[in-house]
Amino acid sequence: MDKILFLAHTDADGTLGKAALEALNAALSLGGPVTVGLAGTATQAGADQIAGCGAVRFLAVTGEEFAAPRYSTDAAAAEALSRAAACDIVIAAGTSRWARALPGVAYRLGGRVDTHATSLAAIGGVPAVTRWFYRQRMEAVLARTQRPWIVLLDPGCVAAWSGPSGTASTEAVQAAAATRTTVTGHRAPQSDEQTIRPDAKVLLVAGAGWTKKQGDGTVHAKEAEELILGFLRTAQASLGSSKSLVDQSGEGQAVLTCLSHMNQIGQTGATPRHAKGLSTCCHGEEPHVVGWRFINQRRAINLDAGCGWARGKADVLYVADAFEVLRKVNALL
Ligand SMILES: Cc1cc2nc3c(=O)[nH]c(=O)nc-3n(C[C@H](O)[C@H](O)[C@H](O)COP(=O)(O)OP(=O)(O)OC[C@H]3O[C@@H](n4cnc5c(N)ncnc54)[C@H](O)[C@@H]3O)c2cc1C
Repeated sequence: MDKILFLAHTDADGTLGKAALEALNAALSLGGPVTVGLAGTATQAGADQIAGCGAVRFLAVTGEEFAAPRYSTDAAAAEALSRAAACDIVIAAGTSRWARALPGVAYRLGGRVDTHATSLAAIGGVPAVTRWFYRQRMEAVLARTQRPWIVLLDPGCVAAWSGPSGTASTEAVQAAAATRTTVTGHRAPQSDEQTIRPDAKVLLVAGAGWTKKQGDGTVHAKEAEELILGFLRTAQASLGSSKSLVDQSGEGQAVLTCLSHMNQIGQTGATPRHAKGLSTCCHGEEPHVVGWRFINQRRAINLDAGCGWARGKADVLYVADAFEVLRKVNALL
């Protein structure tokens, strides 16, 4: 049976976040002996948090230099933990941090890596991962014979591990953290408030229609922004956008300043997971809607009864003026 290393970096407070606990659950579900490997400024709190998970060993690379996401130090920590654990399969959350560092680690170890896994299971005793291809149009289940095999599990796909905490007996692992890269600070995308909330129940998508001339022959971009932000605040919703709308800033047209390319949903954008989605002033073209693959209930508001959403892409289409509808919805909220 394959030996498994669950790899995680600790958060700023030394604990493990939700995505890491999901990856731990996936690692445990394979049935092989699990070693925990942690990296961060402080790791004991994280180890204690999952002390009751049944892991056979707890390894940790600890130090100030492993606090900030940085390829050289993250890769060094992951490589040292992988060598010390000598496991066949390494499972980690598909955070931006690990997604950047672990493919290089797989190369250093002479192994293989698969990213964007959505589930892991032992099929006929053989571990296999499920992942989507071609922008979530095709799903594949794949196994590999090469070892070590590193698997990055996309956040939000399996339940997070929960169980008793305790006191974990942790073995220190040394990692060579030589780096020429200095972290000087953080810069957030240009928008004045947080609009992307991966854990929100509702996704509101804004399309280019919000900045087009309306019935009175004029553009109402400022009101559009107020209505959208008003909905986001009261419903604690996440904000998505069509490509056309986020591209407009480069084309000198009216723009919504609350949006950046980070908000784009679709073939060349994100594929978020939310229980419900409401599309507004967006035509519902295939390259956009393919990003809605994991939105369970889809609704759209469009003036055009023949828009893409009407063609089997939405559960409910409101043929209506999105300005009027959101004004009313915000008042009700
Ligand atoms: C290779 C490729 C990749 C692409 N990737 C992406 C991608 O990742 N994401 C993406 O979004 N697009 C993508 N596109 C572009 C995509 O095909 C569409 O061009 C884009 O999604 C259209 O954006 P839209 O629906 O916001 O704008 P439009 O097509 O301009 O539609 C605006 C809609 O607003 C409606 N409207 C106007 N006023 C109101 C009102 N008051 N109330 C209600 N409705 C109103 C109109 O009826 C219209 O249907 C890609 C295209 C290609 C070729």
